[in-house]
Amino acid sequence: MTLISGSILSYSTSLPVIFLFMSASMLPLITKAFWMQEPQFNALGLLLVIAYLILSALIPRQNRLLVENIILRIENEHQPLTDPLTELGNRRRLYLLVETLLPSSLRRKDPFSVVMLDIDNFKLYNDKFGHSAGDDLLVTISEILRECSRDQDLVVRYGGEEFLLVLPSTGLDAAVILVERIRSAVKEKTPVTFSAGIATHREDLSFDQLVEKADQSLYVAKAEGRDRYVLAD
Ligand code: GH3
Ligand code: MG
Ligand code: MG
Repeated sequence: MTLISGSILSYSTSLPVIFLFMSASMLPLITKAFWMQEPQFNALGLLLVIAYLILSALIPRQNRLLVENIILRIENEHQPLTDPLTELGNRRRLYLLVETLLPSSLRRKDPFSVVMLDIDNFKLYNDKFGHSAGDDLLVTISEILRECSRDQDLVVRYGGEEFLLVLPSTGLDAAVILVERIRSAVKEKTPVTFSAGIATHREDLSFDQLVEKADQSLYVAKAEGRDRYVLAD
């Protein structure tokens, strides 16, 4: 009876069920302890009553927390990792992968670079050709980014018309070659241009600081007239 009660208690969040099975398992023991009319059994009975009261207060709360925790984990696991329009990874995928990529790159002293890339005057393109044509352009540019990058590179839709490339085992020179390749493909296949900021990892920078550096360089590229890339110092 005690075993059955224990297993029901450990999964139930229903108060009546918990009390029914706790009472069924503990009350006979408590009654028996007081029935014996010996001081040590009476003391045991008193301890059991205290345990009964404490468990009554704690178990429902603990079980509710446990179930809430499980529900949160399930919801979390089902959050999308992919942007529905472009089918590129989203920021959630970025941070999940960076958690594993960054420590192993640092261990191997392997250089890696990030590129922040933003379509130039995309608002004008939308205004001129319509939002749906703007969506098509985003898809075309995403395909170009996928085609130009290697399997181990991570291409993320970072914002509306902003993309982040994370390039493992890639120093600054190789990152520049990749950006040039993307530039030629975008010129060939679309009527727009883009600007980019490129930053290579240094040991004193966190991943967020590295992205921030690429973003600042992108800002400089925009200020200098667009359709260009700028290297972070
Ligand atoms: P800049 O060269 O300075 O980057 O100018 P911009 O016009 O590209 O940048 P701005 O930030 O002024 O405008 C970005 C535009 O991108 C505005 C917004 O409507 C559009 N946009 C963002 N997400 C989407 C999307 O999913 N689909 C479409 N069609 N447009 C989008
Ligand atoms: Mg833009
Ligand atoms: Mg932008």
